[in-house]
Amino acid sequence: MNIRFVRRIPALVTMWLVPITLCAQQSLPASDPVVLRAFAAIKAGNAWTLAQQVSLCEIPAPPFKEQLRGLEFRRRLIALGYANTRIDAVGNVVAERAGSGTGPTVMIAGHLDTVFPEGTAVKVKHDGARYSAPGIGDDCRGLAVVLAVAKALTDGHIKTAGKVILVGDVGEEGQGNLRGMHQLFEHEYAGKIDAFVSVDDAGSSIVNRAVGSHRYTVRFSGPGGHSYGAFGTPSAIHAMGRAIANISDLQVPASPKTTFTVGTVSGGTSVNSIAGNAAMDVDMRSESADELDRLDVALRGAVTSALRAENARWPASSARITVKFDTIGIRPLGRTVQTDDTPIVRTALEAARQVGLVSRTTASSTDANLPMSLGIPAITISGGGMGDGAHSPREWYEDGPDGYKGPQWALLIVLALVGVHRS
Ligand SMILES: [Zn+2]
Repeated sequence: MNIRFVRRIPALVTMWLVPITLCAQQSLPASDPVVLRAFAAIKAGNAWTLAQQVSLCEIPAPPFKEQLRGLEFRRRLIALGYANTRIDAVGNVVAERAGSGTGPTVMIAGHLDTVFPEGTAVKVKHDGARYSAPGIGDDCRGLAVVLAVAKALTDGHIKTAGKVILVGDVGEEGQGNLRGMHQLFEHEYAGKIDAFVSVDDAGSSIVNRAVGSHRYTVRFSGPGGHSYGAFGTPSAIHAMGRAIANISDLQVPASPKTTFTVGTVSGGTSVNSIAGNAAMDVDMRSESADELDRLDVALRGAVTSALRAENARWPASSARITVKFDTIGIRPLGRTVQTDDTPIVRTALEAARQVGLVSRTTASSTDANLPMSLGIPAITISGGGMGDGAHSPREWYEDGPDGYKGPQWALLIVLALVGVHRS
């Protein structure tokens, strides 16, 4: 846990946590006039929030190509009164809102990138209450919530004790490898963020535990040759097939949940060629750093023994298949464990109760992984409403009767963490 945050906690406790937790019916934040006004404005502006979500979603943001969406996100923050909004070295959109200087610095972020490649149709289909499009929930919902929080702060002239930093970040998904978070937490804001809240997708859950991941492209190579003329030469594809069979049989614990998959395969030249190359992308995840390391070793062993078997199958051949692991991404796992009792998690749970959302904590792989790995209090919350089909073209979002509670919740968490300044 970040030292500065710990030191500043007592002020927050006085302001929010004690009244919320010790006098349940007194419900301080919801009865605070500043918060009440902001809540009413968010509810009244619900159509605006939805319009942000839909229109941002219709700007493509493939991995490593978030620029267009980022520029528009920046333009909107400037329009909301954040004249200093800028785009950093890697493409994160960053707006700062100063506090009175007596509170912690809190960052709230949604991610700009999607998993969808260039050329994916991103036009949002609107059918009754349902909005369908790739990325509509993940993470256009988060971006819309960040904008709604930004708007509530400026429209409500809310004076905060600490600084609020609003972010649309790059590289959350897959191959992005959290490069937006790396830039923020290891460079510009290294040691300067006291708490981090990411808003990702629809729903009302709180991610308080990280899921770490190791991802590789595993490349098999050999000389290849004619399928008839060079028969007897080991094959890159056959070696990879053996490796996939071995990987399929790996045993992992159900708890802590540990998973693996070979997500994509490619290779070969033609139907009548012994393959000289083959590649597969593998993904391994776990809530436990030890299990993830163990799985990594087991998977490498599975590949090595497959290679040995393929080469041994053709003893007369002098050709040999070789293998190379290219790292796609390593997502860090925090060694600090956040529980439901960790202050930032408790604050989020209490805030959910205050706005009338049923929330629960869970584990996932999100932007919060990085600050968690650094010991900074960090959570990822869902943005309200409901949805499904993330990372697929069937993704949808529905606001339901209380979608506005998502941005209310996010605002309340930010205010509880940063503190409201009372003069
Ligand atoms: Zn996401």
